[in-house]
Amino acid sequence: MSEQNMLNDDELLRYSRQILLPQIDVDGQLRLKHSRALIIGLGGLGSPVALYLAAAGVGELHLADFDSVDLTNLQRQIVHDTGSIGRSKVDSAMARLAAINPQVRLQAHRRALDADSLAAAVAAVDLVLDCSDNFSTREAVNAACVAAQKPLVSGAAIRLEGQLSVFDPRRADSPCYHCLYGHGSEAELTCSEAGVVGPLVGLVGSLQALEALKLLAGFGESLVGRLLLIDALGSRFRELRVKRDPACSVCGAGSGE
Ligand SMILES: [Zn+2]
Repeated sequence: MSEQNMLNDDELLRYSRQILLPQIDVDGQLRLKHSRALIIGLGGLGSPVALYLAAAGVGELHLADFDSVDLTNLQRQIVHDTGSIGRSKVDSAMARLAAINPQVRLQAHRRALDADSLAAAVAAVDLVLDCSDNFSTREAVNAACVAAQKPLVSGAAIRLEGQLSVFDPRRADSPCYHCLYGHGSEAELTCSEAGVVGPLVGLVGSLQALEALKLLAGFGESLVGRLLLIDALGSRFRELRVKRDPACSVCGAGSGE
């Protein structure tokens, strides 16, 4: 067996508590080791996503953010710290992730991604996590994922409400982000305008990390076709069925597939 197809003693110990789960086991851990995920945005959602995926042993994390750390970020963006203020979010996150798990390979995208560089970044991974904070980025990321047939774990949180779903273009029954939100929504609002509580983005980001681990390691039932709505004020979770829109201009029959 080659080095790539087994886990060494250090890895067996580091990941022992999840390898114990029959749904993951050594095979699932190896699948994580050979997986690559792209995280778009290293803010409130991207922080727990990056921390948990690095800690869980996802082999390669590609980090995209063109922003730098600001004092107003630190109330919720827990991958960064006070000493990182002014530093690029990608560099700040890479230092923290490397400290947590030196075995994870890290790739940096420090500039804003245009259509071509976004398509290349999506093509280079197995799964994408949208942790951005604006509608135009979400639409662009979705279109790139549909074009490249890559699963997209999408989360959002604003004020005291969170939303989460998984869009998997490899499945004929899966809607895409545009099927749901194509007509625009409150996603136009950003946290800098509307405000948000830290544990809520932590919750949504943690659920995104969980969905990503399930898809990459191959266990459980994903959120494909379901939209999870979180009401932080009342501590309530609700679920909506969501369907593919046959007339969707991104994933529908008329979109040139
Ligand atoms: Zn669609």
